Amino acid sequence: MTAIRTQVVPDSGVKTAAPALEPLLSEIHEAGRAGRHVRGSEDADALIPNEFRRRASLDLPEITEPQVVRHFTHLAQLNYAVDTGMYPLGSCTMKYNPKVNDRIAALAGFAEIHPRQDDDTIQGALRLMFELQELLAKLTGMDAATLQPAAGAHAEFTALLVFKAYHSKRGDAARRRRVIVPDTAHGTNPASAAMCGYTVTTVKSDSRGNIDLASLKAALGDDVVGLMLTNPNTLGLFEERLREVCDAVHNAGGLVYGDGANMNALLGVARPGDLGFDCIHINVHKTFSTPHGAGGPGAGPLCVKAKLEPFLPHPRITRDTDGSYRRGPTPPDSIGRVRSFFGNFGVLVRAYTYMRTLGEEGLAEASNDAILAANYLLAQLRDSYDVAFDRPCMHEFVLSASRQRKQGASALDVAKALIDEGFHPPTVYFPLVVPEALMIEPTETEPRETLDAFAAAMVRVAERAKTDPASVKAAPLHAPLARLDEVSAARYPRLRWQRPT
Ligand SMILES: *Cc1c(COP(=O)(O)O)cnc(C)c1O
Repeated sequence: MTAIRTQVVPDSGVKTAAPALEPLLSEIHEAGRAGRHVRGSEDADALIPNEFRRRASLDLPEITEPQVVRHFTHLAQLNYAVDTGMYPLGSCTMKYNPKVNDRIAALAGFAEIHPRQDDDTIQGALRLMFELQELLAKLTGMDAATLQPAAGAHAEFTALLVFKAYHSKRGDAARRRRVIVPDTAHGTNPASAAMCGYTVTTVKSDSRGNIDLASLKAALGDDVVGLMLTNPNTLGLFEERLREVCDAVHNAGGLVYGDGANMNALLGVARPGDLGFDCIHINVHKTFSTPHGAGGPGAGPLCVKAKLEPFLPHPRITRDTDGSYRRGPTPPDSIGRVRSFFGNFGVLVRAYTYMRTLGEEGLAEASNDAILAANYLLAQLRDSYDVAFDRPCMHEFVLSASRQRKQGASALDVAKALIDEGFHPPTVYFPLVVPEALMIEPTETEPRETLDAFAAAMVRVAERAKTDPASVKAAPLHAPLARLDEVSAARYPRLRWQRPT
């Protein structure tokens, strides 16, 4: 296997393993090497006006063009990607991204326009955004949408600012300081509430995996801003008493926020606006495709009921009576901008393309297939692992490796062993309410053979945990890297290369 060399993290004394798989560009640097073949380019440099000439040396590695290409190709070949295999990461909706989305996003009329161009010159882009606003509002059963937030967490933050503005308008903001969040919520929910200066009240789940209605009612009061609810929740379960939940919050004068990061079970099946939510954000980079992970890019449009529309960030895209599109004026009650320009436009183009190519029926089929795939996998795995809440699941489900843990292999070990089986591991240790959680979301894009192969791999790992847990603990043996020091990586992140001293 590959040699791993040890490095010392500066100032920490902690030793981390750094891979010697692929030398750094600085390590293959050789003074005088270059990738440029243009004769006379020195003369071209002389054409640059003096004030724009670079004075300092950039200290960049000097290498040939093929060296650069091979370096990055080697790195890419070490990656696991949805283009190379199934990606069962629960709560992330790692579906296959149709290549046509990228082709459309790369069209010059989309990729090469500038946000400061006049509205008259970017009618196509404005029309796309206008229609996407409408499509998303319709699909979620809401009245209006903003495309500005750059991601899910950013949309949560935006929604809470909108809630604050709504309560302010009613003269109610000073005493409403508390946001209610279920114990199954994604970590960004309480974080967004805290960023808005609110305190967070956590409400537990009941024995069927729903938000506990009695605890919710006990937590409600006239100091509550609202409830942040994910449905299907992060256990992959549909909230069974959703109407009562929403009614209880509304009766206390609060608002119900829907975390629709993963809409993959609901497209064309159920509309959050009909279920009692006042708003919902959508991670278009999850549900509506777009390669994501490793920090972006994304977009988190926020769809709201009419009563919240006046407070949405601006500019939003409007259509004039003559059929032309423009950036609308800022209404007096808007919370203002939350992002420069319009958000991540390329991601919006991909989402629009995805929706238009599938059409309403195709979207509903995607959701139904996603639900079917998840239940199909759950049925194959229920004997080998503990099932957290034994109900039909939506687009994802949560297993527990508690049994395996007692045998000597934790959820993390199971995840690492799956790497040797050729699969990306599922989400582990989330949601927090399930011990040794393994959260699996197959998505609608995997064929049955792949689902069967993944289930067989999970079953094999469970068998090994029973008969030879030490081998599961030792995994992965067939990956480019063995176990990484995850604690040091989190505690002492080194986010840029530093020249060794
Ligand atoms: C992914 C996710 C988020 C956060 O979305 P980002 O785009 O990563 O900020 C919030 N809630 C749930 C349920 C999610 O799955």
